[in-house]
Amino acid sequence: MSAKRKIAVLVGDGMGDEPVAALHGKTPLQVADIPSIRRVAALGHAQLVRTVPDGLAPGSDVANMGLLGYNALENYTGRAAIEAAGARIPLQPSDVAYRTNLVTIEGGKMVDYSAGDISSEEAHELIDALNAAAAREGLNFHGGVSYRHLLIWRAGPLQLTVMPPHEISGQAVADHLPKGPRQEEARALMDLSRKVFANHPVNQARAAKGKRQATQIWLWGYGKAMALASYPERHGLRGGVITAVDLVRGLAVLCGLEVIHVPGATGWIDTNFEGKAQAAIDCLKRSDFVYLHLEAPDECGHKGMAEEKVRSIEAFDRRIVAPVWAALEAAGEPYRLIVCTDHRTPIAKRGHTSDPVPFAWVDGPLGAAAAKPAAAAFDEFLPSEGKPPLVCELISSLLQ
Ligand SMILES: [Zn+2]
Repeated sequence: MSAKRKIAVLVGDGMGDEPVAALHGKTPLQVADIPSIRRVAALGHAQLVRTVPDGLAPGSDVANMGLLGYNALENYTGRAAIEAAGARIPLQPSDVAYRTNLVTIEGGKMVDYSAGDISSEEAHELIDALNAAAAREGLNFHGGVSYRHLLIWRAGPLQLTVMPPHEISGQAVADHLPKGPRQEEARALMDLSRKVFANHPVNQARAAKGKRQATQIWLWGYGKAMALASYPERHGLRGGVITAVDLVRGLAVLCGLEVIHVPGATGWIDTNFEGKAQAAIDCLKRSDFVYLHLEAPDECGHKGMAEEKVRSIEAFDRRIVAPVWAALEAAGEPYRLIVCTDHRTPIAKRGHTSDPVPFAWVDGPLGAAAAKPAAAAFDEFLPSEGKPPLVCELISSLLQ
């Protein structure tokens, strides 16, 4: 076991982009000062990959599955099924998990998909009230973090067309309500929440402080229980996952990897970079594999913040890639270091796209060569002969 190569996968969520006017027509990855990542590309290999199989939406769920080596076309059931695994909520075969956002809808428009970033405490009071009002066998809301919750619905509707609320910001919600067989049942729950939440003390207190109210729930991202072949079975690897995000935590549980908690991991540019890097280094001392996920670049993309996106990518390079790589070199054992992103979150679009993204890896130890100056491109314009490969296939071969 100990003679095995150590493998580190370092993921900057949503680092990919498109040329940005505010960055003089360059992408954040092109203008960012990222010497360590460029050295990985120069001393190892860099290419474009596709993280989202054709026909699927470019969600972080599908894309991170790809980076973990799973083809979502074979395994994916729905975002909420992954989140339920992360929350350790067991799903029975007939259960359907629905992602349940607390949202702010005013004047018929989706004003805020996060209900003013409502606190978990406030949210749980609302979810409890909704459970009491909806009380019936086989229907349970589970309080999660901030605006993100789950509904476990026995034999719930499985053929609805639903819309992620963050993709209809500012739009009229009437056009985007759940549609399809049994739509009235899903809509009835959303209507019920509107009645329960109106004038609820939590909302009254928020209104008094000038904060956005959680006017209702929004159901989307549903799926039945999901199963993935575990890392020990599939790749003979034991290891851990470091992330601030429930979804990636859920994937870790589903693929039999340890969920490593890092205090101060926030999912934003104020996250505990050093703590995450150190947790990765420690994980590799006791196992063979680590998957470190950094959410900040994606959030900057969603918020349309070009400068901050560049800074978050630079922090990823300097405060995560550099120390993890240095520790791998210092250990003197065989390793493979992979640096990648799950998808593009273009500043101009404030949402995800399926276009190919850069992917790089280097094998070591390199010894003296690791210190030599070297730099190669790591951006969205890497040359590609034909259609880039699906990352789930490439990474599966790199995990061998
Ligand atoms: Zn995103």
